[in-house]
Amino acid sequence: MANPPGGMSPSFEQKMRELRDAYEKTLPEKTERIKEMWMSLRTLQRLPPDLLYPFREIVHKLAGSGATYGFSALSSIMQRLEHKLDQLKEFPEDTQRFIVDIDSLVRYMDSVIRSEDAKVEHDGLTEQKMPRPETPKLLFVCEPGSPLRRLPEQIRHFGWDVLPCDYAQMDERLDLYRPEVVLFHETAEHACPAPASLNLNPAPVVFNLHPKPDLCSRAAAFRKGIREVLPVQIDVAELVDRLDGVFIQMADAPYRVLIIDDDDDVAMYHREVLEQARMEIRLSKTAQEVQDTLAEFKPDVILMDLHLLEFNGIELSAAIRQDQSLKEVPIVFASVAQDLTSHLGAIRAGGDDFLMKPIQPSFLVASLESRARRGRELRELLHFDGLTGMLNHRTTEELMQQAVARADRTDGELVVVMIDLDHFKQVNDTYGHVTGDRVLVNFARFLRGRMRKSDVIGRYGGEEFMLVLVDTNLATARAVIESLRVSFASVNHSNNDTPLNVTFSAGLAVYPTFTTPVELTHASDAALYEAKHRGRNCSVVATQDMLKSRLTDG
Ligand code: GH3
Ligand code: MG
Ligand code: MG
Repeated sequence: MANPPGGMSPSFEQKMRELRDAYEKTLPEKTERIKEMWMSLRTLQRLPPDLLYPFREIVHKLAGSGATYGFSALSSIMQRLEHKLDQLKEFPEDTQRFIVDIDSLVRYMDSVIRSEDAKVEHDGLTEQKMPRPETPKLLFVCEPGSPLRRLPEQIRHFGWDVLPCDYAQMDERLDLYRPEVVLFHETAEHACPAPASLNLNPAPVVFNLHPKPDLCSRAAAFRKGIREVLPVQIDVAELVDRLDGVFIQMADAPYRVLIIDDDDDVAMYHREVLEQARMEIRLSKTAQEVQDTLAEFKPDVILMDLHLLEFNGIELSAAIRQDQSLKEVPIVFASVAQDLTSHLGAIRAGGDDFLMKPIQPSFLVASLESRARRGRELRELLHFDGLTGMLNHRTTEELMQQAVARADRTDGELVVVMIDLDHFKQVNDTYGHVTGDRVLVNFARFLRGRMRKSDVIGRYGGEEFMLVLVDTNLATARAVIESLRVSFASVNHSNNDTPLNVTFSAGLAVYPTFTTPVELTHASDAALYEAKHRGRNCSVVATQDMLKSRLTDG
């Protein structure tokens, strides 16, 4: 579960240390190579660029990887060396002077490598979330006569397992039940405990329901490690939203990062840091590898070294940008200082981010995360409905078509369900549009808490929804929908004393009884129509007859 505040898992520290130690072991060989190359170069009368190039290459790599692993003195010598080599190329008449300078830098390198103690600085990384269990467990602690005693039942409708108990039973229940989350109703007699004091390993996430939360009580709670202080009057669906926020959400599925770097040492280091922050990583070196990976991996963001084998980072990113489907993918450049100055103009023109090696782990994570998040937000606008966060009409249809194609290929089963809220116009008329909206949002939360990740859940129209239950037979689908129907009917959407309950009707169409996406849509719609006809608050399975009469009715 979550690491201690601000800390990192020991295994990460351990891994970084191992990586660093392994890198350090390669240093004598690397510096020896530099020395040898330089010795043979400097004896030449002239130093033509094509002979200098491979030397400069090795020097450049050591500047980057040295900085990354915390050998900053070594890195800075390499950067100066690289600079001298560039000058040497530009001012051949001063060759002798540069040779003297380079000689002394190489000697200096030798002494530094023996004395430098690398400091790999890494600060606290972000807190880690856990995946949502099928039915997460919540322990609800309150006084015996608490006015909130109906809350557990309401939370259960949203796919949580809830055990209520009073303060005296708390320790015993915690031990037996092992909840992921504890919800505490704080009173004058009972203060909300710190998660660490609960004697549970891993410590549960703790929420506090407070009569009147203010900045002071919230800051004090934060200090104790309490996740959030919420007002007692909170709407149940909103409360469930906060509780679900403890887990990895669909929207925060791991960010995919493509690292393009020709230096294995640096690439591995960055991969380790980013994987620790729960990102998914691929490494590529050559243009061909990049091309293959882009197509198959679809990264959220690219981390690119400016200095690469065949092309530099600017050239490669320009090439990537010419592909229409990759226009939006953010590219973050990473490089040592020298490269940045020489390419600053180009980078500015491209509008992308650049980071200077060595990059602090938390800074690297934060930069890539913010870029990836922005990219996803843009895509969300395209695929998701603004009010409910569900898939929009077009995307729902696309995913349904894909699911049908997959069932076709694999001889699988699936069920398409069309759902419509009953008498929704009345809800709007009686309670107002704002309340109507809240019911729609609650329904979305309700479905998300209760359905499998693989199912498609979309808003098809105003108060009409389409579900696609993949790899599911009719009997199972019926049981699922019936249980959703009964459960949703008992959700109270009111935030005052008058309860507000809303029901829905559903039409089910099963593949392969109906074989094409269009047929499945029409058939489930016909069954929904039949369900409304039968008096609403029920579900009906589509037959060929229903489909026929619906089509002839228009
Ligand atoms: P039935 O049981 O036959 O489905 O009756 P109904 O009242 O639900 O159906 P009808 O199609 O007559 O009305 C649908 C209502 O849903 C009317 C419309 O204002 C409301 N609606 C659609 N989209 C939204 C929305 O985004 N927010 C709110 N608040 N209401 C919406
Ligand atoms: Mg309706
Ligand atoms: Mg309708």
